Amino acid sequence: MADISTKTLSLDEIRNLAKTVLVSAGMDGAGSDILADLVMQSERDGPRSHGLAMLPRYVQSFQSGYANGAAKPKIERLAAGVLRGDGDNGFFQIASELARPQLIEMARNAGIAGFTCANTHHLAALRFETEALAREGLIAICVVNSLALIVPHGGKTPVFGTNPMSFACPREGAEPIVWDQASSVVALMDIKLAAAEGHDLPYPGGLDRAGNVTTDASEINETLSLLPFAEHKGTGIALMVEILAAALAGGCLSVETEEKQAFGALNIKPGVTLIAIDPAKWGSPSFLAQVSQIVGQIDAEPGARVPGDGRLKMRAKAQSEGVAVNLALLEELERSD
Ligand code: NDP
Repeated sequence: MADISTKTLSLDEIRNLAKTVLVSAGMDGAGSDILADLVMQSERDGPRSHGLAMLPRYVQSFQSGYANGAAKPKIERLAAGVLRGDGDNGFFQIASELARPQLIEMARNAGIAGFTCANTHHLAALRFETEALAREGLIAICVVNSLALIVPHGGKTPVFGTNPMSFACPREGAEPIVWDQASSVVALMDIKLAAAEGHDLPYPGGLDRAGNVTTDASEINETLSLLPFAEHKGTGIALMVEILAAALAGGCLSVETEEKQAFGALNIKPGVTLIAIDPAKWGSPSFLAQVSQIVGQIDAEPGARVPGDGRLKMRAKAQSEGVAVNLALLEELERSD
């Protein structure tokens, strides 16, 4: 087993460390503020695989010149409900932060609006994109494609990225509903973490060298052939994400990458699509009451919980107790700043 000693850091310490590492790697002030906040939020709410563990990949991306650390994205309004971005070869979150006020205004005016972006890099955890819109009273859906890793059900060769999707919705008197998941059984970063820590996956998540389904994280990390969740049903969702993200935005298809092994911050230049819906414009007088009713029914079910509410527990704990960070990772990051 790998060394998994930890040191507890406060959220401020995590944010400051992320900012220092990103600036040392050549990222500009505004961009590094946005990414450092997101690294801290991933450590706070999960998924921790997209927190500090992602920083060495960001560093590699900037230092190699693969991604633009001083990106100045351009946003263009193509129709009453359509915004299109060019990420200037930077990370998506920079373009998204720029587009958000306009997207919110357009959704409030038209009832629905969408933002697509190409020429951009890894978006990390989608939940923060949708949550930011739900906090404005909007329903939000976000999709992105990524490096081809998912084998379509029945096949042997990856066609789709882990193609994640997130959904968020405002709730009366509570934090928004926000769920966020990959189209694979297990996200790639979790396979990498399990392989590094020397343990198997809790369930089969990919193919071994012989093309058989396995729980062996090290073998899956070698073959980079992951299974879609729920067999043909997950394949259908991965297909939808590929079309809505890559094709609609004009980003690279998941198969369009030069290397099988992910480079830098784990990506091709994918397409991203973010859709915002203002429920107030759709004529349902009972929208928020019905959302509360659905949530109440899930919460009343023993053993069940609302998808995404796990992050709120993690958030409260991290805010009061800080976060236990892998010591080896911490030392690596401190060496790179
Ligand atoms: P998980 O399987 O860990 O979780 C999926 C969702 O289910 C979460 O919203 C989680 O929220 C919720 N959930 C978990 N357990 C339960 C439960 N018992 N009952 C109800 N809801 C539950 O996510 P993945 O491993 O699929 O994805 C991890 C992350 O990786 C995501 O943030 C995703 O955006 C990101 N990702 C990014 C990619 C990229 O290219 N940018 C590619 C692939 C993934 P909670 O536990 O908070 O309740």
